[in-house]
Amino acid sequence: MMRCPFCKSPAHAKSNRYMSDQVKERYHQCTNLECSCSFKTHENIFKVITRPPEPEQITAPTPQRQPQTLGRYGSAFQH
Ligand SMILES: [Zn+2]
Repeated sequence: MMRCPFCKSPAHAKSNRYMSDQVKERYHQCTNLECSCSFKTHENIFKVITRPPEPEQITAPTPQRQPQTLGRYGSAFQH
């Protein structure tokens, strides 16, 4: 939750949309009725602390090289 930049009251997040994979735009509405300002913020990733494992470590170690597959299974995998 953001605070209103004018009256410092809490502002409710109304909606958001992704500008990109790294940046999210969020629309805020001040909860103070006498102020009731609205503003937008940009939420962005500035540092990745822990990366996911490399794809080679996630997938099962099945052989995917074409010569082995074709030699073992014949024409079943040819289109
Ligand atoms: Zn306000």
